[in-house]
Amino acid sequence: MRMSKLFARTLREAPAEADVASHKLLIRAAYIRKLMAGVYTWLPLGWRTIRKAERIIREEMDAAGGQEIRMPIVLPAEPWKATGRWQTYGELMFKLRDRHDRELGLGPTQEEVVTPLVAAEFTSYRDLPVNLYQIEWKYRDEFRPRFGLLRAREFLMKDVYSFDRDDRSMGASYEAMVDAYRKVFDRCGLDYRVVEGDPGEIGGDVNHEFIAVVSVGEDEFVYCENGDYAADLEAAMARPPAPAPPGDRGPMTPLDTPGRSSIQSVSELLGRPPAEMLKCILYDAGGRTVAVLIPGDREVNDDKVARVMWPAPVRLFEEDDFKARGLVKGFVGPQGLSDDVTIIADRSVRAGHDWVTGANAADRHVTGANLDRDFRVDRWEDVAQVREGDPCPRCGGTLGLARGMVLGHTYQLGTRYSKPLKATFVDEDGTEQPYEMGCYGIGVTRIVAAAAEQFNDDGGLKLPKALAPYEVVVIPTNMDLPAVVETAERLYAELAVLGLDVVLDDRADATAGVKFADADLIGFPIQVVIGKRGIESGKVDLKARATGERRQVPLEGAVQAAQDLLAGAP
Ligand SMILES: [Zn+2]
Repeated sequence: MRMSKLFARTLREAPAEADVASHKLLIRAAYIRKLMAGVYTWLPLGWRTIRKAERIIREEMDAAGGQEIRMPIVLPAEPWKATGRWQTYGELMFKLRDRHDRELGLGPTQEEVVTPLVAAEFTSYRDLPVNLYQIEWKYRDEFRPRFGLLRAREFLMKDVYSFDRDDRSMGASYEAMVDAYRKVFDRCGLDYRVVEGDPGEIGGDVNHEFIAVVSVGEDEFVYCENGDYAADLEAAMARPPAPAPPGDRGPMTPLDTPGRSSIQSVSELLGRPPAEMLKCILYDAGGRTVAVLIPGDREVNDDKVARVMWPAPVRLFEEDDFKARGLVKGFVGPQGLSDDVTIIADRSVRAGHDWVTGANAADRHVTGANLDRDFRVDRWEDVAQVREGDPCPRCGGTLGLARGMVLGHTYQLGTRYSKPLKATFVDEDGTEQPYEMGCYGIGVTRIVAAAAEQFNDDGGLKLPKALAPYEVVVIPTNMDLPAVVETAERLYAELAVLGLDVVLDDRADATAGVKFADADLIGFPIQVVIGKRGIESGKVDLKARATGERRQVPLEGAVQAAQDLLAGAP
């Protein structure tokens, strides 16, 4: 490709609304252009990067036994209503009506298409397992699209669906996909972690997230310093502290705490640390009152409470709930709560004793509240928000907290979709069985955003060579000297013959400075520079974009030297 012909106008400044590095640089380097909020056009440079990511994905999916298909984007509403997702996806799904007033949706994912498809074609256990995938545009009507490609309304995804006859076989299909995903992200050169995901409302299902480590990521995850545990913050657990040893307990004593309804203010009044206060957080779970106990220095994870109480819908108490149920906001304690309140305690509560907690009367607290003697616990659960420095649930090592963006998600669905969609096969014993399914996604456009986020500097992008749109750029710096131009043309031709993706920056009106700046901004992994002095001394300058390494090599071995430098580049 000749730079003079390339449909790419780089920008010195990013548009004001671009808020993260990847968004700014992909626009400045002429990879993408915005059409409207959350919807982008992919220019030739960006599209080549997408194609490279796709090729890696296809190769790994095919190697793992996947078969590529292509499903429609415009979907009928009926199967979505059968699975309940027409409702639960709600306004996140683009919905439309055709001229016959039929309800349609733009696909955010395709379980409702692929499940009936397989059920209609395959009828016997002998046909299984089967693994179908596609690379297709997906749509989500995000309330607030932002961070460029991170939260877009149109995005390219690879989605896979596996169909197995039983649980064991589904587990094997799942392992194969997790393996293939690792290979994909390794080959893309990304810094990522595989973490245990939030199982969502369907408890017990195995699922993993593949998270690129980026500081602007919207997803938080915890990881053990010893590498044996990583989990999405919503799903993360910590090892609970050891229970308090038995011993003397003080009497439970009420005291006045006028106007002090917060942990902090009571802690200050009594001169005792928040960890010695017992917080009592109230929820409504489908009409039932639930009190959640946790030490005053910790936070409750609402998602965990929701999972504990599932399928009852859970919400925090509001002002009116306290009044209606005779409880005093800011002064609730577990002692004396009636039997129709479910008392859930985080496991860390076992470690304390002689608690300070609310006295269930306005402006009053108690000290010396003790488990079993003064209050009961109906269920011990893990409901605490994990925080940095907590002990690892596996080895007791220290947990750290990091941010990232989810690039891939693998999920053991079981019969979640096959049952409501009545997708069955005839098993060996002649019975009709629902398929055991898995689904797996990779955000292809997110791979590009993550790579841009992870690999850049003040000069611009430096994507790994597996994703960079071209591998080498040849830069003649003196376009008025025929010897320079001819040498550049010759090197360009020789590199292309070797099968390298190469660009010749043949722009006659661009200064050397502009060419260098553009080469850095676009992020060609290898720059081959030919100038007046080089021609005179028979030398060519090479630069590796990612490392900044420079080499001066003899013009006669320049092609080989460029190849070698590329081979060693990340
Ligand atoms: Zn550990």
